[in-house]
Amino acid sequence: MKSLLVIGLLAGSVCAAEEWKPRDMNRPRPPVRDPGAPAAKEFAPPPAGAVVLFNGKDLNQWERKPGAKDQDKSPAPKWKIENGYLEIVPKGGSIATMEKFGDCRIHIEWATPAQVDPAKTGQGRGNSGVFLPGHNEVQVLDSYQNDTYPDGQAAAIYSKSPPLVNVCRKPGEWQSYDITLLQPRYDAQRKLTRPCTVTVIHNGVLVQDKVDLGGGATEGVLSLQDHGNPVRYRNVWIQKLEKDPKP
Ligand code: MG
Repeated sequence: MKSLLVIGLLAGSVCAAEEWKPRDMNRPRPPVRDPGAPAAKEFAPPPAGAVVLFNGKDLNQWERKPGAKDQDKSPAPKWKIENGYLEIVPKGGSIATMEKFGDCRIHIEWATPAQVDPAKTGQGRGNSGVFLPGHNEVQVLDSYQNDTYPDGQAAAIYSKSPPLVNVCRKPGEWQSYDITLLQPRYDAQRKLTRPCTVTVIHNGVLVQDKVDLGGGATEGVLSLQDHGNPVRYRNVWIQKLEKDPKP
C-alpha cells in the first residue's frame, strides 16, 4: 500500500513537471515533418461567397494600426504590393480589417524572406502573425531549421499551444494556413456555454485541433502583424460560417 502511494506521488510530480510555462525553451519540440509539394487545392482561388481580403491588387479592406509609440497615426497601410503579393514594410505598422468577423474560416498564404540573415535567429527570423478576430495570434515565423520555444514557432497559438507537428517549408517558399475559428457562446446570464476553439491546418496538415481559447470576444477584426521582417502574404479570404457547428 505504501509503495503504491509513493508511485502515485511520483506520477503526480511528473504530471506537474509537464505543465509548461509560456515561452519555455525546455518544452519538447514538435516532430518535424515534410509537408511535400503543395497540392493544387492548397493555393486555390477563394470559393464563391467568401470575403476576399487581399486579391493581389489593393488593401481596400484594411487599415493601418499604428503602435502606441508610433508618431505617425495615419490609417493608410504602408505595406507594399507587387507581383500579386503583399510585403511588410518593417516599422510600417500592423494592419487590420475594417470588418469584424464572428465564426469563420480563414485562408491565408505567406512566405518568410528567402534571404536568411544568419545573425537573426529564433523569433527574429521571418516573424509576423495572424491575429484571430477577437482572439490570439497564430504565429508566422521561419521555423525551418530555426529553433525557438515551441509555443512561439510557426503555426503555434502564440504563448499557448505549440503545433502538433512542424511542417514549415523553406524560407521564400509559399505556405498556407486554413484556420477555423468558432467564437465563444454565452447564455442570457453571460455564463460561458461554449469556449472559443481554433483549428489550424498548415500546408495541408492538421497542427491545431480544436484548441480551447476560453471566453472573451464573440467577434473582432483580423489583423496581420508587423514584427520588423519583410514577410509576404497573398490570397487572403474569409468565409463567414452561417450555421452553428458544434466544436
Ligand atoms: Mg509574430
